[in-house]
Amino acid sequence: MSGSVTIVGAGLAGSLLATMLGQRGYRVDVYERRSDPRLSGAERGRSINLAISARGLAALAEVDLRDEVLKRGIPMRGRMLHDRDGTQTYRSYSPHGDRAINSISRGELNAILLDSAERQPGVTIHFDHRLVEFDVDSRRMVYEGPHGQVAVANDAVIGTDGAYSVVRRHLQMREGFDYRQDYLTYGYRELSLPAVDGEFALDPHALHIWPRGSSMMIALPNLDRSFTCTLFWPKTGPDSFSALESDGDVDAYFAENYADARALMPDLMDDFRLNPIGSLVTVRCSPWWSGQVAVLGDAAHAIVPFYGQGANAAFEDCISLTQHLDATGGDWARALPAYGEERKPNADAIADLALHNFVEMRDSVTSHSHKALHHAEHALHRVLGETYRTRYDMVSFSTMPYADIEPRVRKQRSLAAGALAVIAAGAGFAGAGIAGKFRRPS
Ligand code: FAD
Repeated sequence: MSGSVTIVGAGLAGSLLATMLGQRGYRVDVYERRSDPRLSGAERGRSINLAISARGLAALAEVDLRDEVLKRGIPMRGRMLHDRDGTQTYRSYSPHGDRAINSISRGELNAILLDSAERQPGVTIHFDHRLVEFDVDSRRMVYEGPHGQVAVANDAVIGTDGAYSVVRRHLQMREGFDYRQDYLTYGYRELSLPAVDGEFALDPHALHIWPRGSSMMIALPNLDRSFTCTLFWPKTGPDSFSALESDGDVDAYFAENYADARALMPDLMDDFRLNPIGSLVTVRCSPWWSGQVAVLGDAAHAIVPFYGQGANAAFEDCISLTQHLDATGGDWARALPAYGEERKPNADAIADLALHNFVEMRDSVTSHSHKALHHAEHALHRVLGETYRTRYDMVSFSTMPYADIEPRVRKQRSLAAGALAVIAAGAGFAGAGIAGKFRRPS
């Protein structure tokens, strides 16, 4: 295929898309407002690591990067729940305990993707170039660069410029463009939990959660044997970031609520004081394209991080866009609507699932009914195989469209509840309680 494409933003989605388009023979110019992160390092407190699962891996496999990324990742096969008294309870993600999501450094993943993009003959990455003006009809863009302003125009423009996308903002000014953003009243702040005597201080093959009802902390392992912890707390009110004013307040609060982790966090005070509080926003918009311009990744569908799917979904977008380009012989005007129409319902579905999972992670995961349902569903999966899959399994360990997951969960649970009710009635025992758990929406 031939022609020129501009990608705005060399984050995770933009750098993967650049490789995919470069491999198809396009001339690709990627403009990124930041300096080259491979030289400048990570920004303090900006989601140091993230979990990549089946969907992301499928996209990475398309460009032959799956194994390279997995080598830099740490498999996490389940959740480790930490009580206030330090008791740890493990819940595997899959019935046989073998399926894993992978903790990987955002910086390393981005570096692998940038290296790969630059290996493609037609791809050029322009760092330190911020998009400041954009005319959607003519696709004329103006970038603020180190030597002043640069004007460019290409056959197609793909905005992969993140949750606060400038490309999207220009689409938004057009008639018929729907846009909605919803902030949580929660923010996130990262803390470090270093290695102890060169070893991981906690089990590295689990995603650690300290569920505390209205808030939580999680921790993911890093290759240097440290963990990055993330607090998801209300911004204001009781048990919030703003409620803790002095070092003494922070120390006392952690001693009461996260005592086991507190003992492993020598830098808690500095991290708490210096690391920024990030926002958690869901962005929904449509249509994702206009003419030969489209948005992809967080620019099209920023979601909250509680299913670990934002980057995974963005990578799936790249597969979808390039498949539609292939199918239309490189006709952007037909490929972009087909991509948007395919992906939008799926983005809406994972946005809802991610919001739902926040309640599960911080609160319901500790309940007896959640535990019973977890065990019952895993038992059913073991007996029935792929016929009965948990929601988590379908989100994280399959590439089934996100939009198909919730209807399938409902159908499976209603069949299971019906079967259990029949068995309970026939055997005259009290299985009706478990049947009720399948019926309850969750
Ligand atoms: P980004 O990664 O935000 O990249 C956008 C790029 O565009 C940036 O490099 C930016 O500098 C550039 N840019 C912006 N504006 C301009 C401009 N005007 N001109 C030029 N360049 C511009 N996802 C997962 O899959 N698993 C996880 O475990 C996970 N955990 C997360 C934890 C947290 C705390 C958060 C906040 C997010 C998490 N995510 C996770 C989501 C994931 O980080 C995002 O979905 C992913 O980064 C989206 O990639 P992107 O390329 O679309 O956007």
